Amino acid sequence: MEIEILDWVKEHKSELISVSDEIWGYAELGLDEHRSAKLQIDYLENHGFEIRSGIGGMETAFVASWGEGKPVIGFLGEYDALPMVSNKPVPYKEPLIEGGTGHGCGHNLLGVASMGAAVSLKHVMEQKDIPGTVRYYGCPAEESSFGKTWMVRDGVFDDVDVTLTWHPGATNSVRNESSLADFVLKFNFYGKTAHASGGPWNGRSALDGVELMNSGVERMREHMRPECRVHYVISYGGGAPNVVPDYAQNFFDVRAKDIAELKKMRQWVQDIAKGAALMTQTRFEELFLGCAANVIPNRVIAQTFHSVMEEIGVPKWSEEELEFAQTMQQQFEPELVEQAVESLEESGATLGQKHLCDTQVPYRDEIGEGTGSTDVGDVSWVVPTAQFSTACHPIGIPGHSWAITSCSGMSIGHKGMLYAAKILGVAGYRFLTDPDLRQKAREEWQIQLKGRQYECLIPPEIKAPPKPF
Ligand SMILES: [Zn+2]
Ligand SMILES: [Zn+2]
Repeated sequence: MEIEILDWVKEHKSELISVSDEIWGYAELGLDEHRSAKLQIDYLENHGFEIRSGIGGMETAFVASWGEGKPVIGFLGEYDALPMVSNKPVPYKEPLIEGGTGHGCGHNLLGVASMGAAVSLKHVMEQKDIPGTVRYYGCPAEESSFGKTWMVRDGVFDDVDVTLTWHPGATNSVRNESSLADFVLKFNFYGKTAHASGGPWNGRSALDGVELMNSGVERMREHMRPECRVHYVISYGGGAPNVVPDYAQNFFDVRAKDIAELKKMRQWVQDIAKGAALMTQTRFEELFLGCAANVIPNRVIAQTFHSVMEEIGVPKWSEEELEFAQTMQQQFEPELVEQAVESLEESGATLGQKHLCDTQVPYRDEIGEGTGSTDVGDVSWVVPTAQFSTACHPIGIPGHSWAITSCSGMSIGHKGMLYAAKILGVAGYRFLTDPDLRQKAREEWQIQLKGRQYECLIPPEIKAPPKPF
């Protein structure tokens, strides 16, 4: 066991918690994470890292590097918050700021654990005179613009040997699974305004275009592949019923199992928009907001994570933490907790109680099919990459909720974060110092790629992600 890594994290525990809590307090939305990025940059600079910022056209994206030459080990961090999930670190809903932003996906923990791992590895490299480069990738706007996709397009991952990352969760487990490729799109419809009663024949309703587009998508739904997903909201439908709206907007997420299938789905949705415009004598414009590729899983990295997790051992929960978790679970439907416990037990985990995960989920070599999307996908197409989760909130708590915000700002989240920093640091050390392990991870990556080449789906003329809201 690489005790120096564990010692470094232990010795810097309060520093890491304070950086995480500060980012939790800022709760900045995607592309606005100026203070969150600055805080991490200052920390990394103080530890001798060199910073390159403004990657992928995003002011809040940066790469922090230490060392030189090969091998190159990369850690991925995120730090964007979500709208409307502000909460105090209490086990019930009580916004810190009414209607405010919050870390409802725990990205304050995500970024700081990865940053801590990078600095701990640098410390050991320096101590033992180990050659190579360690990098922390400050990746903004995961929730809104899929920031990493823009960074991948900028080529900042091209020389990396292995990329390691994690995500706060309800369990201690490796994420040996793919994800769905995703397009985030808006469709603006334009018609002609008129008095809706006095002269409707002079108008053409942009809302009609939007509604018929959605109606067309509902007809598509039955005939798309079962793993595909399409979701929409009408983000603008007009101002008043007695005015024919000359402008309306549809907001879409289109997902499929891989890039190739996703391109077909987008084409179909575009054709439906064309049909809707033709039927209503309106016109439309498609706006590209972001995209993510499907994750290419890596069993070699996943196995490494699993053994390191086991060797370090899962954190223990205090009585207060268990009580906090139980009270929080009571704020939600009991079925949510029951379902989550059941699925944990099905995966072979033996829980001591049903509030906080106190065990490690057994490793499954069979690759699962995830139903979410993440921009880690794009990184995994260009570098062997894998992810794991540590328990940072109670079992059965809904994602992207006030409850996750709450846990991400108190001791339950902190414990999961420090455990994650140790796992990442130790796994990073193994990949840095073991060329065979790196080679195996690369071979596995090639097997999973199945001869496919990465294709960046960002239109070449778009230089930086547009603001989504
Ligand atoms: Zn999220
Ligand atoms: Zn997230």
